[in-house]
Amino acid sequence: MKNSILLLLTLLLISCGTSKSGSQDQTAISTPPPTPTAPSTTTVNTVKDKVEEKTVALATKYAESITEDDLKKLVYKLASDEFEGRKTGEKGQKIAAQYIVDYYKNLGVSAANTDGNYLQHIPVEYFRGRSKDASENVIAYIKGTEKSDEYIVLSAHYDHLGVRGEEIYNGADDDASGTSAVLEIAEAFQKASKDGKGPKRSIIFLNVTGEEEGLFGSKFYTENPIFPLENTVVNLNIDMVGRFDKKHADNPEFVYLIGADKLSQELHDLSEAVNKKYTNLILDYTYNDENDPNRFYYRSDHYNFAKNNIPIIFYFNGVHEDYHKPTDTADKIRYDLLQKRTQLIFYTAWEIANRENRLVIDKK
Ligand SMILES: [Zn+2]
Repeated sequence: MKNSILLLLTLLLISCGTSKSGSQDQTAISTPPPTPTAPSTTTVNTVKDKVEEKTVALATKYAESITEDDLKKLVYKLASDEFEGRKTGEKGQKIAAQYIVDYYKNLGVSAANTDGNYLQHIPVEYFRGRSKDASENVIAYIKGTEKSDEYIVLSAHYDHLGVRGEEIYNGADDDASGTSAVLEIAEAFQKASKDGKGPKRSIIFLNVTGEEEGLFGSKFYTENPIFPLENTVVNLNIDMVGRFDKKHADNPEFVYLIGADKLSQELHDLSEAVNKKYTNLILDYTYNDENDPNRFYYRSDHYNFAKNNIPIIFYFNGVHEDYHKPTDTADKIRYDLLQKRTQLIFYTAWEIANRENRLVIDKK
C-alpha cells in the first residue's frame, strides 16, 4: 500500500516536470533530431573491430601452417650427417643448396632470377681463400599483389663449419634453425598466395652461403642485388632461433631482437605491437645496446643490409654450450620455441608486407 502511494506521487511529479520543460523550451522541440544515417562512434568502432578481427584471423590462419613437426623435419634433414656440416664450397653445402632448391620447387615458389635459376653463383675468388670452390646463395620469391616493386628480404645462412677431423659440425641451431624458419615462412606465404591472399609487397627468401667464413653470401647479394636495394623495405635475418641461453633457462619463451630501432622507430614499434597481438614472447634487447661488447649487430648477415641503410631485425637465441661445436645437433632444439619464434617473424613480415605505407627510415 505504502509503495503504491509513493509510486503515484512519483509519477505525478515526473509528469509535471515533463510538461513544464516541454512548454517552456520551444527551441528544443523545433530542433530536428540527429540524422539517423550518421554512424555513431560505437558503429564505427564495431566496423573497425570487425576489419581488425578479419585481419587477425587471416594472419593467424597462415601462421598456423608453421608447425613444430614441419620445422623438426627440416632441421633434422639440414643438420643430418648426410649434409656434412654444410661447409661453404664443399659437397655438403651443395647438397644443402639442392635440398633448399627442391623445397621451393615443390612448394611452387618461384626462383628470384628471371631465368628460373634459384642459385646465385658466387665465384671462388670472391671468398679470398676462405672457400675451396665457388658457392651459391639460394633465392626464391613471391611477387607482391599491389606493391610488387617493394621488397621484404627474409634471410638465414645455410652454411656451417663442415667436418674437422672425425667430427661433423651439424649446426642444427646455427643455422639449420633459421633456414628452416625461412622455408616454413615461405610455405605460409605461398599458401596465402594460393588462396588469393598473397602479400601486397614482394617477399624474397634469401638463403645465404659463406656466413661462417665472413658474411660473404649476404655481402655478395647486397653488391649484386637481384632486386634494387633502394626498394628493399626491410631485412629480417634469422640466425640461431631453436635454443636458449643460461640467462633464460627459467623462462625460455623469449628471443633476442637486435637492430630493430637502429634505422626505423616504426619498425621497432610495429615489431613490438605484432608480438603483443599474436605471440607474446619476451623480447630481450640486451644485445641491441650500442655498448654491448658482443657487437652482434655487426656479426650476422643483416649487417650487409643495415650498412646500405635498410632497416633490419636480427632474431637470435644467444650463445649456449654447443655454439660452434660438433654437439650443436637437431635433438637439442626446442621445437616449440622454434615454432613460436618463426611465427613471430612471419607475423612481422606479414604486417610489413600488407600495411598501407612503406616503413619510414628516420634515423642514421
Ligand atoms: Zn650463424
